[in-house]
Amino acid sequence: MAVKAEYLWVDGTQPTAKLRSKTKILADGEKPGIWGFDGSSTNQAPGDKSDCVLQPVFVCPDPIRGGDNIIVLCEVELIDGTPHPTNTRAELRKVADKYADQEAIFGIEQEYTFFKDGRPLGFPVGGGYPAPQGGYYCGVGADEVFGREIVEEHMDAVLAAGLHLSGINAEVMPGQWEFQIGPVAAPQVADELWVARWLLYRIAEDHGVSATLDPKPVKGDWNGAGAHTNFSTKAMREGYDAIIAGAEALGKKRQEHVDGYGAGIDQRLTGLHETAPWTEYSYGVSDRGASVRIPWQVEKDGKGYLEDRRPNANVDPYVVTRLLIDTICGAAAGDN
Ligand code: ADP
Ligand code: MN
Ligand code: MN
Ligand code: MN
Repeated sequence: MAVKAEYLWVDGTQPTAKLRSKTKILADGEKPGIWGFDGSSTNQAPGDKSDCVLQPVFVCPDPIRGGDNIIVLCEVELIDGTPHPTNTRAELRKVADKYADQEAIFGIEQEYTFFKDGRPLGFPVGGGYPAPQGGYYCGVGADEVFGREIVEEHMDAVLAAGLHLSGINAEVMPGQWEFQIGPVAAPQVADELWVARWLLYRIAEDHGVSATLDPKPVKGDWNGAGAHTNFSTKAMREGYDAIIAGAEALGKKRQEHVDGYGAGIDQRLTGLHETAPWTEYSYGVSDRGASVRIPWQVEKDGKGYLEDRRPNANVDPYVVTRLLIDTICGAAAGDN
């Protein structure tokens, strides 16, 4: 039987890249090989040199089509086989390899917001606002929870694809949700996050709903959407000093991190709505108003991980994981 292989790649859209996909039919027993696409339609090439190359890097079962069908996440290459300038995974690979001995792992909390008819799911038809925030986070009931059928379907799909889902929850604003991928090493954690995002868009599409990673979907007194990134190295999982050293190292590269944490970060990291202002760096135990939080259990155990709360929902997971490894592992190795 022919197999449908859904090839996924990250495009060149600015300031926030988009996922693209198309289907390749594989003959019985055929492995998913390199393929091509029209880069002039994805902000990745001029029209007269439009060919870009898809290099498969992560394959998993396709839970939407089922059977033997697969999803094939790719890196984008130029026709000479070198990484395309928009290929942020290639840079991550280098840094992850350099510090592989420190055994960094990540858990990424992906927040997102469902939209239908131009407003968040659960916002009143005809305009205006729902009741203020307070009851929606981890809520239950038709007056508080919107889109659960999509969330459940997505959860089953992510698990069927074999991705490392660690949980889901309803968020602070109506129509806003979260799922977490991890703990897994890079680049795999980021590969899985891109696939899980694609599954979310794809499943919501069947419900006539769009899932968005807009970091501030509603202006005013409503929470933004983030991608808190939990991080540990072997040394951090064994002792507290390495966690403090990691938190301190992040403070020395504040601007570089904020610059790589997603477009529109200044809109979200205002100092309100469980954020620290993007212009300042702070860390603290249990502090959801700090840039970086050390969970209370981690302080109690004297080992574990830290949570960088700054990344936006629309962050490129290849970039946030590269920056964290480079800064924290680099400092531990005496390189910066
Ligand atoms: P929060 O309390 O901030 O909402 P979540 O439960 O949503 O936290 O997410 C925590 C994430 O941290 C999970 O994805 C989990 O897998 C991950 N995590 C747990 N332990 C570690 C660790 N040692 N290193 C990195 N990530 C970890
Ligand atoms: Mn969470
Ligand atoms: Mn959250
Ligand atoms: Mn969190």
